[in-house]
Amino acid sequence: MNFPAISRRQFLKTTTVAAAGLPLFAAALADPPRRKIGFALCGLGSLSTQQIAPALQQTQYCRLAGIITGTPAKAARWKAQYDLPDHCIYSYETMDRLADNPDIDVVYVVTPNALHAEHTVKAAKAGKHVLTEKPMEVSVAKCQQMIEACQTANRQLAVGYRLHFEPNTLECARLAREKVFGESKMFEGGFGFVIGDPTQWRLNRALAGGGPLMDVGIYVVQAARFVLGEEPLLVSAVATNTDPEKFRDVEESLVWQMKFPSGVLASGSTTYRIGGMNHFKIFGTRGSFGLDSAFGYNGIHGSPSDGPEIQFPQLNQFAAEMDDFAQGILANRPTKVPGEEGLRDVKIMMAIYESARSGKVVGLS
Ligand code: NAD
Repeated sequence: MNFPAISRRQFLKTTTVAAAGLPLFAAALADPPRRKIGFALCGLGSLSTQQIAPALQQTQYCRLAGIITGTPAKAARWKAQYDLPDHCIYSYETMDRLADNPDIDVVYVVTPNALHAEHTVKAAKAGKHVLTEKPMEVSVAKCQQMIEACQTANRQLAVGYRLHFEPNTLECARLAREKVFGESKMFEGGFGFVIGDPTQWRLNRALAGGGPLMDVGIYVVQAARFVLGEEPLLVSAVATNTDPEKFRDVEESLVWQMKFPSGVLASGSTTYRIGGMNHFKIFGTRGSFGLDSAFGYNGIHGSPSDGPEIQFPQLNQFAAEMDDFAQGILANRPTKVPGEEGLRDVKIMMAIYESARSGKVVGLS
């Protein structure tokens, strides 16, 4: 896994300008874009509506160019709100027609987890780059199918790992890499919330692929890999269900361990039963650091055992993620969050589930 290069000085430089009232990303840019990359949002649920579409308005390199939805009423609402022409509005069944639309460069897949492959493959076959939400898919085979489809079409595939662009998270990766708190020895993290509506797709294994691990525990797996800069060798896990009626299809809560090649041990927790769990911490030979809260859209900060708070100004993570993808497409540079990165997490989560089922430690190749 690559570490992004970022220094406190660079951040202070950009955030000073941001504090003067300019969007952080706009302020960091030297030249205006030659053209904006057209994004079509595929799936107009809560993330698209509340986060991604508003974030698109804050980007420098992107614009909302189209929508793909199965609900005609949503199509009409979005068309009016974002002034979209009729020829840029698609259903899941008409995605092949994207091939004829040069206004759309990227399809951003924001449908339930088990539909990401279907929509990614359709978009790639129509010649579009794809940014897909996490988790990449619900099986290793489906992730591989997505990678192959984009490779065949010679299009880029990125996974929506917004925290790879988040300054406080990047700072933690720097602290680990530069051994500011000595050699990292232990990692501990957790992410959970109380899930509501028992009929939602997140509680349906066929659409979600699993429970809180697939939904939010993935952030803990990511944080461990990203900050430590290593890949786990083996995992063990235990799951529980104390409300079998609600959690008849997916786990309610799960804890797991990972062992890394350097000898670092990591433990993670995830749950749909309790709130307030949103943190990670790394224990080094000279102290500890991490973030609490760690994984939200804002409010991310940390209190190391020694030294100043980790408290870089918040940015719009979705805008940063989309601008980075767009810049990569314009410059023909590979994305920092490729399909292979999403595949790696799905492999690890499948091993975690296997361990929880079998009660055995599971190795990762
Ligand atoms: P949501 O339920 O609010 O929206 C899902 C959309 O998919 C809806 O518009 C729905 O109509 C559509 N859809 C199409 N086919 C469907 C089907 N067969 N069953 C159900 N819905 C169908 O979900 P969401 O919270 O927007 O999540 C969408 C994706 O985004 C998920 O993969 C999720 O993990 C991811 N997500 C990522 C973040 C993040 O911070 N990066 C946050 C939330 C969700």
